[in-house]
Amino acid sequence: MHVIFLGPPGAGKGTQAKILAKKLNIPHLSTGEILRIMSSKNNYIGKSLKDIIKKGLLVSDELITTVVRERILLEDCQHGFILDGFPRTLIQAKNLEDILKKQNIKINTVIKIDVNENILIQRISGRQVCKKCNKIYNKYFNPFPKNGCIDCGEKNIIIRSDDNENAFKKVRLKKYNEETKPLVEYYDKKNNLVRFDGSGSATEIAEKIIKTIKSI
Ligand code: AMP
Repeated sequence: MHVIFLGPPGAGKGTQAKILAKKLNIPHLSTGEILRIMSSKNNYIGKSLKDIIKKGLLVSDELITTVVRERILLEDCQHGFILDGFPRTLIQAKNLEDILKKQNIKINTVIKIDVNENILIQRISGRQVCKKCNKIYNKYFNPFPKNGCIDCGEKNIIIRSDDNENAFKKVRLKKYNEETKPLVEYYDKKNNLVRFDGSGSATEIAEKIIKTIKSI
């Protein structure tokens, strides 16, 4: 199974992609997570990535396409993968198509999560990420437990450098609307886009997504 998650920052793509990946036993490929690991290196590339991510800008299509191409060729992606955060531009979508064509792979479905802007701001400004397993919590409605992450027991969280209202409204949401939103129409025309209302609880949304995936 090959799945793409689409939606604005804070829509819950990461949370849902993780749940689905576990259910289908295939890897969850979050380009944001991969880039955050690359940006933690104390070298030129690491520092440039850190700066781009903090400002909410996008890294170049060329760099991210190379990263994804190398990642999906690894052994663990043989039976499928879930892409979260890629593609984010039309160029990336076309690059992905070229890569997949060479591997004889077809995307089974593109899951689009819809959430209104007020909820997005609350999710972004309250987001807490488990330092070890990247499970997502929220200080307003699902705070990180005092005795540690419910999945891995880790006691520490990370607050993402780009999770502030200013960067979100001024840059990330704008980038999403300008660069990523056109992909909704692009995949809709290919007839493999399914929309989900992402405003409910993570469990409720996951159940709906899994039901749809089972029917494909
Ligand atoms: P995310 O965790 O998906 O919100 O991504 C965090 C940040 O990583 C984004 O704001 C971008 O700076 C960068 N990033 C992640 N995926 C991509 C992509 N496909 N293209 C360009 N930049 C990306």
